[in-house]
Amino acid sequence: MLTISWSAAGGWEAPQIKPFQNLSLHPASSALHYSIELFEGMKAFRGVDNRIRLFRPMLNMERMYRSTERSCLPLFDKDELIKCINKLVEIDQEWVPYSTDASLYIRPTFIGTEPSLGVSRAGHALLFVIVGPVGPYFATGGFSPVSLLADPRYVRAWRGGVGEYKMGGNYGPTIAVQSEAARQKCQQVLWLYGENEEITEVGTMNLFIYWTTEKGEKELVTPPLDGIILPGVTRQSLLDLAREWGDFKVTERRVLMKELIDALDDGRILEVFGSGTACVVCPVGSLLYRGQTYQIPTMKNGPDLAKRFHKELTDIQVQTSACNHFNVN
Ligand code: PMP
Repeated sequence: MLTISWSAAGGWEAPQIKPFQNLSLHPASSALHYSIELFEGMKAFRGVDNRIRLFRPMLNMERMYRSTERSCLPLFDKDELIKCINKLVEIDQEWVPYSTDASLYIRPTFIGTEPSLGVSRAGHALLFVIVGPVGPYFATGGFSPVSLLADPRYVRAWRGGVGEYKMGGNYGPTIAVQSEAARQKCQQVLWLYGENEEITEVGTMNLFIYWTTEKGEKELVTPPLDGIILPGVTRQSLLDLAREWGDFKVTERRVLMKELIDALDDGRILEVFGSGTACVVCPVGSLLYRGQTYQIPTMKNGPDLAKRFHKELTDIQVQTSACNHFNVN
């Protein structure tokens, strides 16, 4: 694991890479009491040429930097942290699976370790990175759809809040809602927001809807980065790809639950899927909303677009021919 300590008095200490081990924390540490904690999730892939590459790591570093600023933790040098992570992955290289559909998950974490109960800026902090191999999200050949619970009583984030930052405090409270979804035989939560029931995210994924608009155009639509959703690296990558293809309209805008339900009733929905580092894309098959179950025809429609995104993105991650696409290093 990689650890880098900081204190207001001494600044950043030298980074250390050492065997995976427990941390020793003062029981008053601010991370434990006030959730002064943030993290990232990224992956290293072993390419077909046996070289190991991180996928768009600077996007994770930029997001981590923004979370750090919002948490009043000390700012770090993004390039230097990528260098440290590269060194850790190099040392742990045998943990990067020899497979094109498994990878090494990398979890950078940053916590306030101020040993005091005052609610104030942490004068001590610890940045650490742990890693672990992860298998394919979907069993071979399967691209199984998930069922969603959309219950407007629950909110993940709100305007003026911190939903766009990857802070631990955004995640703990979602577990009870996820359990409620499971109790109602749904696999994930579709997070709604506000009186108009804006569609925001699904579980820990961004959401995409591929539909035919009322004007008869094919359009890929996803909620905008307006403060209440996490700016996903996969989301950005899908938008970049779709805009490069130019095969259909690509729109970032607020989408209301009513628009989704109307489009389902009109038979205009082609595919609905989530996007994230864990799965790349994850098809949605049904939706439980106000006591009614709606079938979503994602799988019936291929899902052609979800499969195309999945193939294109995983090719970029492991095929050398495509690896420079995003200047991964
Ligand atoms: N939304 C939330 C709330 C998440 O936790 C994640 C996972 N980081 C995502 C979206 C997807 O982001 P990414 O594509 O960067 O994994």
